Amino acid sequence: MIAAAGPISVADYFSACLGDPEFGYYRTRDPFGAAGDFTTAPEISQLFGELIGIFLIEAWKAHGRPAGTRLVEIGPGRGTLMADAQRVIDRLAPELAQSATAHLVETSEKLEAIQRETLAGAQIKCHWHTAVTDVADGFTLLFCNELFDALPIRQFVNTEDGFRERLVTVGDDGALAFCAGAATIDRDTLPGHAVAGDIFEIAPAREAVMAEIAARLRRCDGTALVIDYGHLESGYGDTLQAVRKQEYAGVLDAPGECDLTSHVDFQALGTAAAAEGAKVWPPMNQGGFLLALGLLERAGSLGAGKSPDVQQEIRRSVERLAGTGQGQMGNLFKVLCISGADVAIAPFNSLAGPSGGLS
Ligand code: SAH
Repeated sequence: MIAAAGPISVADYFSACLGDPEFGYYRTRDPFGAAGDFTTAPEISQLFGELIGIFLIEAWKAHGRPAGTRLVEIGPGRGTLMADAQRVIDRLAPELAQSATAHLVETSEKLEAIQRETLAGAQIKCHWHTAVTDVADGFTLLFCNELFDALPIRQFVNTEDGFRERLVTVGDDGALAFCAGAATIDRDTLPGHAVAGDIFEIAPAREAVMAEIAARLRRCDGTALVIDYGHLESGYGDTLQAVRKQEYAGVLDAPGECDLTSHVDFQALGTAAAAEGAKVWPPMNQGGFLLALGLLERAGSLGAGKSPDVQQEIRRSVERLAGTGQGQMGNLFKVLCISGADVAIAPFNSLAGPSGGLS
């Protein structure tokens, strides 16, 4: 592409690395789990999906227990989160489980095949779609974990000529390299003071998905939960990263063979949702969210009567999911909750009220 048409944007590079039909990372492999390139929260422990299930039940009750709920997950990976959440919903809210349908939105055929296996015995009938717009209207409870970090970003770098879009080109040595292109960005949209070399990231693709979700919630009512790593406020920084075999790699080193992601700007997502008229709660840290939903209590009952090894394993998962140290997810990951109607759902209702934005 670069040889034929010149340097490409970071967004086009990002999309090609992950989604190219022949060589794209998600099209060619199953990247999850200890044997894969990275581990996500649902793959660490069933506790994660079970607590999401409990949250979804709370949301359903807060919305007045509507019949015919559409349980929608975008980017379900191996289907583990959907399976764990459904098990809890079936046990604790049979009325919800019996009238609901489940909708998995997935662009990778390979992962869809794995999801079908994981969900072969699902309590709630599952349907697959390639876009959320293909899910028929109806009261919606939607969730996604580590979806937004996998949607492309554009980067702008602060040069002597002002902010310029960062492009990917081929250097004199034949290797991929970054360069500054001609496109610029409206300075009024940038935060505070910038120094030379600062990078600002925008993600129109993420905002478009968020706007689509928010519009759906306004139209059909319901609640959505977005979980991902990222920051609460927009700011400068290069967060593009590549991961391979549980380790960081150079982002230009092996296109299509590494997972390519970037941190999610939750302020931008909240603003996109509020612009569609959705109620937006201030995001919580994943640790606080899981603890408020009863992580420790559920871990205790899961470990009761089990061997010391299993109990130790459960303790380690709890630490990894909710701990705040290096390599733990509790602080790095954020949980954004948005709703169509103005409902209060625990644990978000223990914070300040919802706002039209996150500023
Ligand atoms: N939620 C899972 C997987 C996260 S990885 C987990 O927590 O384990 C990202 C997932 O999003 C993969 O399933 C990937 O194939 C899917 N995906 C990427 N882009 C997508 C898009 N535009 N629409 C739907 N799914 C997408």
